[in-house]
Amino acid sequence: MKKHNFSAGPSILAPEVFEKASQALLDFEGTGLSVAEISHRSPAFLRVIQRAQALVLEIAGLDNSYEVLFLQGGASMQFLMVPYNLLETKAAYIDTGTWANKAQKEAALFGKAEVVASSKAEGYKFIPKGVTVSGDFDYLHITTNNTIYGTEFHTLPQTTVPLVADMSSDIFSRPLDYSQFGLIYAGSQKNLGASGSTVVIVKKDLLGKVSRKIPSMLDYQLHIKSESLYNTPSTFAIYVNLLVLEWLQAQGGLHAMEQHNRAKANLLYGEIDRNPLLVGYANKEDRSLMNVVFNLTDESTKERLDTLCKEANISGIQGHRSVGGYRASIYNALPLESVQVLVEVLKEFERTA
Ligand code: PMP
Repeated sequence: MKKHNFSAGPSILAPEVFEKASQALLDFEGTGLSVAEISHRSPAFLRVIQRAQALVLEIAGLDNSYEVLFLQGGASMQFLMVPYNLLETKAAYIDTGTWANKAQKEAALFGKAEVVASSKAEGYKFIPKGVTVSGDFDYLHITTNNTIYGTEFHTLPQTTVPLVADMSSDIFSRPLDYSQFGLIYAGSQKNLGASGSTVVIVKKDLLGKVSRKIPSMLDYQLHIKSESLYNTPSTFAIYVNLLVLEWLQAQGGLHAMEQHNRAKANLLYGEIDRNPLLVGYANKEDRSLMNVVFNLTDESTKERLDTLCKEANISGIQGHRSVGGYRASIYNALPLESVQVLVEVLKEFERTA
């Protein structure tokens, strides 16, 4: 029986995506070849990557002043590729959690990476507000959704410098004015597909301005020139990206996604706030629609809740080691039904206390 998968990533994908990906592994579009054994320069794969690139722009509502890349090395590689390509004098970083902090630390290895706001002192329970960045910063970096702490930017900071965002855990979960960003990156393994590819959306006119020499594999301009085929890309992961993007559009795009995600989040946060045995981690106004983090009011009851979850076929809700408790990741592909099952379990947990 299929489990209710609340994993933070790699995470659940739609059943249609798993089915089509499985079929393509055996026989890709009737070619008699697996999608995993065709050349990355074959016409069949070029159609896959080009269609995926076009769909990313279409879904984001962006024009051709942006370029879409499918790279490797995860979001963690982007922590250094961003400063390598964009940081000349100094950059601004908002520190909203472990990942934001890692991004800033990488940039600080070869430039000035100033933390302009941080919620670290309060356990990253909130998103700093009213931050304005202007002047001579090369860019402002934010992490739009903080996977570990369950916080999310619901209003973007004011900035006159290019805005760079790690959207690994909330990309395409809601409509946004994507043209406010100069560069967006996201590891695929949450809302975009399987692990192994990283999507980068970059405004072309931001590139080519730094004086340092950039090694080939870290150079966005070279990857653009080579159409993400400078070296062998993660072909199967990119095929799964395409399937997820097509699925997303078939669901009705970002507006439909947001409604679906809000319905799930409201249901689950509603229960957390009602249930006397549970306490939400993040400040209410900054709560994430993607990662719902909560603790128990009495830690000694943990084994009982774990057993109830297991009996209900719930998987992947253990909290990150730095926060403890529980984290239910409710990404785009998670059905409402799975949240309903979890909420029933939480009610049962209270009834049988
Ligand atoms: N940024 C965020 C917001 C994340 O959630 C993660 C992974 N969970 C990362 C970066 C790191 O991603 P990767 O493992 O793809 O390098």
